[in-house]
Amino acid sequence: MELRAVRGMKDILPEQAARWQRLERTFRELVGRYGYGEVRTPLLEPTELFVREIGEDTDVVSKEMYSFERHEDSLTVRPEGTASAARAYVQHNVAGVEPVTRWFYIGPMFRAERPAKGRYRQFHQAGCELYGDVGPASDAEMIGMCAELVTALGVRDFVIHVNSIGSGPTRARYRDELTRFFEPHRAALSEDSQRRLATNPLRILDSKDPRDRELAATAPSVVDVLAEEDAKHFDGLRRHLDALAVPYHVDPRLVRGLDYYTRTLFELKITTGELGAQDALLGGGRYDDMIGNLGAKRPVPAIGFAMGIERILEVTAREEARIGPACYFAPMSEEATTRALLLAQNLRQSGHWCEVDGRGLSVKAMLRRADGLASRLAALLGADELATGTVTLKDLGRHEQERVPTTQLAEAVARRLAMPPLAAEEKAVDRG
Ligand code: AMP
Repeated sequence: MELRAVRGMKDILPEQAARWQRLERTFRELVGRYGYGEVRTPLLEPTELFVREIGEDTDVVSKEMYSFERHEDSLTVRPEGTASAARAYVQHNVAGVEPVTRWFYIGPMFRAERPAKGRYRQFHQAGCELYGDVGPASDAEMIGMCAELVTALGVRDFVIHVNSIGSGPTRARYRDELTRFFEPHRAALSEDSQRRLATNPLRILDSKDPRDRELAATAPSVVDVLAEEDAKHFDGLRRHLDALAVPYHVDPRLVRGLDYYTRTLFELKITTGELGAQDALLGGGRYDDMIGNLGAKRPVPAIGFAMGIERILEVTAREEARIGPACYFAPMSEEATTRALLLAQNLRQSGHWCEVDGRGLSVKAMLRRADGLASRLAALLGADELATGTVTLKDLGRHEQERVPTTQLAEAVARRLAMPPLAAEEKAVDRG
């Protein structure tokens, strides 16, 4: 029998891996500029950590965790990164050493969800956690950073939903409101939500069952029951977001699937529809109670987000230009080939990827190869170019060409590479 990868888990082969590396590099550099340093935690954690922090009634804990017993311990392959990072933060008493801490992580997460486009059983997240700052300025900074991040990764059409679910007392009040609202409609709810009505009515709001969704759409909004301090925090967040010119949309129905959140919640969604129901590229929020719950000497406020790497790569696949050589040399004689070898060597010393076509083929065949390699430029060297000490530099990304003295080739190449290539549709028009 042929053995295949586990359903919902994927291999990443070298061509794809190059895209992963580029994404990870962009992520590390960008969050590094905001002061985030990397934390690496084990893939296995005590099951208890997730049960306590994510919440027993969440889908993640109740049906999606890969948990097993070994030597009397109950272990779980991590379904997310926030609880593990918080466990490490408390275990190493980081709060005792520094008042504010910024951590990021990148790695695989495991949830036994029903596989679909954009939903896997092993998927990868890149996320950030900021400890020791109650916000709301830090909340706005993080949300702004997320917008900058997905833009840098090539995502164009997105919207950021924000909401506040308040702190402890607000949530208790909201739970009561929701129970009062849903109780008369109990029979119309899904079986899961009938159970949630007793244990955690907030979870009904993010149920995927159509029966629940219809009712949830008319449920009371949390914004109406926010305590004064929570409302002030949320106003502050919006003020800072406005000042930073971060576009956002207040979404009072946003609750998110994990129990640990307090106050600020946010989710960044793609608006092109290409991911169907799996339209969230990243999500996050504040979790001011977790560090205290995990046994820290004092409570420490915290906020974080996690971005789904597969989803980002899926929605940016079209946008991303294939990376090819900077310049492909097409010499038309033996003498021209010698010249081309020399010119290419010089260009490589300035850090450019160059290739010389030494096969003695027609210009047309050499240009076809340049196109196939996704080379940005092609340098043609014929008798005329040799006689005048020049090259004909064709910009394949912009459908332009110029005659350049060989002594100025490096400058011309650098200048061309700094110009954006035409978009695919402009090229099509250009080709007529
Ligand atoms: P969560 O940890 O559920 O808040 O998810 C944060 C982000 O991780 C989501 O917005 C998705 O981009 C991504 N994500 C969550 N679950 C999956 C999954 N099963 N497959 C792929 N990506 C996921």
